[in-house]
Amino acid sequence: MGTLLLDEPGVQIGNESNLRSIVKDREVKPAKRDVLRDTFKVEPITWKNADWPVVGWMLLMHAGCLAAPFFFSWSGLAVGFVLYWMTGCLGITLCYHRYLAHRSFKLAKPIEFLCHVCGVFALQGSPSIWASTHRVHHARSDKAGDPHSPRDGKWWSHMEWLFLDRVERRDPEFRDRVVPDLMRDPMVKFFDKTFFLWTIALGVALYAIGGMSWLLWGLCVRMVFTYHVTWCVNSATHLWGYRNYETTDDSRNLWWVAVLANGEGWHNNHHAYPRVARAGHKWWEVDVTYGVILLLKACGLAWDVNDDLPDATRRATPKAVA
Ligand SMILES: [Zn+2]
Ligand SMILES: [Zn+2]
Repeated sequence: MGTLLLDEPGVQIGNESNLRSIVKDREVKPAKRDVLRDTFKVEPITWKNADWPVVGWMLLMHAGCLAAPFFFSWSGLAVGFVLYWMTGCLGITLCYHRYLAHRSFKLAKPIEFLCHVCGVFALQGSPSIWASTHRVHHARSDKAGDPHSPRDGKWWSHMEWLFLDRVERRDPEFRDRVVPDLMRDPMVKFFDKTFFLWTIALGVALYAIGGMSWLLWGLCVRMVFTYHVTWCVNSATHLWGYRNYETTDDSRNLWWVAVLANGEGWHNNHHAYPRVARAGHKWWEVDVTYGVILLLKACGLAWDVNDDLPDATRRATPKAVA
């Protein structure tokens, strides 16, 4: 079966025409269903098509946040903060986003494993589901088929899109076409199968060590905070902020999202050059995740870091805003 190689080395996943040209070059048979356009069609959420496990989980976690002040402890807050950084920065930003979705660098196996563990602790879906959704976001950004564009509503892009049951997204055929590289990866396969169990184990461990305080602050509050930070990258940075590049989407650079999401707020830079490991392109655009990647590289634990800064990038050259 033909595959859409969305992460072809040297090719920027910038826009749909880029993807189309890759597909054309490789003479890939057209799919019966246009997976990029049709998988994330916007539909009103009803009782029938709602993703009830996701709705239930979100309600449970938010209810835990309401109870958390009654079980406050400084150690619980500290555990929550450390887990927020580990899951948000190492798990989602470094591993799920820049490593799996964009293949911006390579990692030594033990670090790759640890970062996957941090990723599944965030409970934002399995690695291949997260990365495939994100690749479609880049391919269809702010067009029909974008999983979470604010053009379909601010709250839709922030969280409502999660509540629609996407049967097609779970279809292995969809992932075989969008993330074929990940579907062949034994580590991704392992975490795809076990991702929910890790959170259950973490919850049990937190309760066993620190009681209700650690469970509520280390799981519920930390998770809800990290969810909203990640969701702000989908909503706020396609709505507010400044642009360094004239991309074909509405992406913006927004400093407070960059602070909370460890560099992900420099989202216009990222949409302009998605495979570049560094999201901050100006000296003041601090990107903590890129700092971690450089640290791993200095220790010999990361290599082949894509550092092609905008002026050195040959393909896909969105104009810099004057
Ligand atoms: Zn975006
Ligand atoms: Zn991205």
